[in-house]
Amino acid sequence: MLLKNKIAVITGAGQGIGKAIALAFAAENCRMLVSDLNKNACEDVVAEIKEQGGSAIAFKCDVSDKIEIDKMVNETIEEFGGLDIIVNNAGIFPFKAFTDITEEEWDKVMNVNLKSAFLCSQAAAKMMSAGGRIINISSIASVIGFSGLVHYCSSKSGMSGLTRAVALEIANRHITVNAIAPGSIETPGATAGLDEAMKEQTIAAIPLGRMGTGEDIAQAAVFLASEKASYITGQTIIVDGGWTLR
Ligand code: NAP
Repeated sequence: MLLKNKIAVITGAGQGIGKAIALAFAAENCRMLVSDLNKNACEDVVAEIKEQGGSAIAFKCDVSDKIEIDKMVNETIEEFGGLDIIVNNAGIFPFKAFTDITEEEWDKVMNVNLKSAFLCSQAAAKMMSAGGRIINISSIASVIGFSGLVHYCSSKSGMSGLTRAVALEIANRHITVNAIAPGSIETPGATAGLDEAMKEQTIAAIPLGRMGTGEDIAQAAVFLASEKASYITGQTIIVDGGWTLR
């Protein structure tokens, strides 16, 4: 049990990658607060965790709202008595041509994808002790460009800088900060707009010949959250089936 006696917060965990991370952490005996914009979705994930003998609570949190973030962290401390791991997973990826993106749309993507990681990490780090873990869910959009995703690519590239700088600043407290950069992962959010032809085109770009699963990302998160990764900090680990190799 890699995460026995650990307490985690996972954002955007009502579906997709966040849900997969919640289930994988629970399988490693981690107790956690499952948060998302959608409270019902969190409750379904918590019910699944409890059916498997785990311990979790559901909490509605908009990660672009500092007041809700502070409440989420306080709720974790009150319920479980501490906080060891935060996974900053919530994110949005609305496609729009560069010349059409409005200032409001730019701000929304930055707030949900990047400011959120700053605010959540800051609130969590204040409560963590040695052995703490901050894990940011980034994207291969932090290392390569994607048409129609200028705001998204910018937010995820910013996340790499945030990861390095926070890691450096809190290394003396023995808290590690790392990011995972997924490639194309089958989730409700990512595959909703993909027809079969688009899926085939995506798979053709992936050397390992398939789209990733939430579980592929979740196992990287389990590793980074565990004692086994205690000497890794400030890194962005790419989990993309080899997409960015060519
Ligand atoms: P998803 O299926 O859309 O799930 C994201 C979850 O985050 C949803 O439950 C969503 O709630 C929630 N969310 C959205 N805005 C939020 C906010 N302001 N506060 C709290 N929760 C919010 O997406 P996913 O594919 O699992 O993506 C998860 C993360 O992985 C994102 O950061 C994404 O950028 C990253 N990623 C995904 C892929 C991929 O191919 N899937 C690739 C690279 C990186 P609602 O549904 O209610 O909006």
